Amino acid sequence: MVVDCPSCGGKAVVTLLASDTDLPRRTFVARRMVCHACGATREQALTPRGQAADPFIGLKARLRAETRHGDLIAWNEVHLDYLEQYLSGRLRIETPDETGRTRNKSVVSRLPAWAKSAKNRDEVLKAIAGVRLEKL
Ligand SMILES: [Zn+2]
Repeated sequence: MVVDCPSCGGKAVVTLLASDTDLPRRTFVARRMVCHACGATREQALTPRGQAADPFIGLKARLRAETRHGDLIAWNEVHLDYLEQYLSGRLRIETPDETGRTRNKSVVSRLPAWAKSAKNRDEVLKAIAGVRLEKL
């Protein structure tokens, strides 16, 4: 997850402190933010079972494409790339992975309808390009 650093406003990255954690447990594990600009750090402790951690640990998501219809939030650069490719139509065919699941299907299905609407495409892509320019 990429967030705005609470100290300097620079690019900070939130990572899980236990990298080998299996997927269902990832919701709960401790996270650490490290700012790439000033080196500030912030940690969020393991949350109790049943209580999901805030993936942005209470900080502001950095990669927000702001449009008239709402904000489209990308978790990180890979996600931003994916959204851009998907919305520009360069990623029409979803390829199932080895488990038979369609890669990133959930990402796309969670996109708001206005973001997927063809008539808003230019505006959304322009906002994404702006995020790339200003925030990465
Ligand atoms: Zn900073």
